Amino acid sequence: MAEPFAAVDVIRAKRDGGRLSDEQIAWVVDAYTRGAVAEEQMSALAMAIFLRGMDSAEISRWTGAMIESGERLSLDVSRPTVDKHSTGGVGDKITLPLAPLVAACGAAVPQLSGRGLGHTGGTLDKLESIPGWRAELSTAEIMKQLNEVGAVVCAATEGLAPADRKLYALRDVTSTVESIPLIASSIMSKKIAEGAAGLVLDVKTGSGAFMKTRDQARELARTLVEIGTAHGVATTALLTDMNTPLGNAVGNAIEVAESVEVLRGGGPADVVELTVALAREMLGLAGLSDVDPAEVLASGRAYETWCRMISAQGGDPAAALPAPKHVHVVEAERDGVLSTLDAYGVGVAAWRLGAGRARRGDPVQYAAGILCLAKPGERVAAGQPMLELHTDTPDAVPAALESLAGAVVISETNDAPASGEGIVLETIKL
Ligand code: URA
Repeated sequence: MAEPFAAVDVIRAKRDGGRLSDEQIAWVVDAYTRGAVAEEQMSALAMAIFLRGMDSAEISRWTGAMIESGERLSLDVSRPTVDKHSTGGVGDKITLPLAPLVAACGAAVPQLSGRGLGHTGGTLDKLESIPGWRAELSTAEIMKQLNEVGAVVCAATEGLAPADRKLYALRDVTSTVESIPLIASSIMSKKIAEGAAGLVLDVKTGSGAFMKTRDQARELARTLVEIGTAHGVATTALLTDMNTPLGNAVGNAIEVAESVEVLRGGGPADVVELTVALAREMLGLAGLSDVDPAEVLASGRAYETWCRMISAQGGDPAAALPAPKHVHVVEAERDGVLSTLDAYGVGVAAWRLGAGRARRGDPVQYAAGILCLAKPGERVAAGQPMLELHTDTPDAVPAALESLAGAVVISETNDAPASGEGIVLETIKL
């Protein structure tokens, strides 16, 4: 059958700053997925979109076309369904305590996640450090676990937004990742296809985030919320700080251990604060705003749900987590106040120690990572241990130390002006 459009005409229209019609968008995404639009043509179109942008209606339609390239799960669950997505940060283990917490509060949380690439870790890599835990579930297993436990964190099934999988791989090698229309449609196509009725987005801003400035992060957040709303999903975004790592642990097993501390009523204050803030938003969207997540966390019920969630996927929640073969301690060079612990520097260092991967498909070291023994604002004394670098490959330490140069600053006094803001900077809804 003849194609209704020619790819060159669609590329030219966007290259010259025009808007694409609904029909052109539906066709080009579908034709690319089935191989009728060539990789070099989609590369040119992605670059034209990168340079010229898309308006809200185009972005929403583009997202719809990516959803339609695959299946949209229909969640057959008696509880209200709600999910969360984070744009990625350093030490961002929040899904681990959050999913069981929100389930323990009465909602169902389907969290279809990815593996890490670059300096931000992937949720599946963290959970795979638990002996026996399995990320790949069938749709029937996802439904069973959602009904029986209320929370499932697993790998996205192959059938969800296949257009995005193909396009994301292309963007990765054509320098077209950092475009708000393309990022927003990529994230939302997968999340909407997952079928949850509500969605909370944790949009990070700061040195360790995709979006370095608050204005960019706000624009991404608004775009995400607009797409969700246009597709009938109740969507809210929180803009949150990612200038310093979340919590003390950055890595895989080490982040699981910290999440378990939070679920048992302890853990770092910033991780607890963000987990509870996101849980409140999710419960609001699920019609459960009368449930107090802080109380449920303190009661131990979220920890019980965590144990059931891990066991249901073959993991042993009581098993010892992998320990590193080598630990290198970084000490404070002088007395003073730790004024900067830069998220990006710490994230890259953890990645170089083996916690992350350079290429899709590479293995990760479960025990690798960084334990931050001091956080910004704390007084430190010369010689005091500040960071523990964990790795199975000690020859990775010099490169990790190199990326920490300039990331750790000790000042005479804490002269950074207090912003008065907590970790949640803004809430964005329509
Ligand atoms: N995460 C995604 O899923 N897609 C992007 O384009 C960027 C981040």
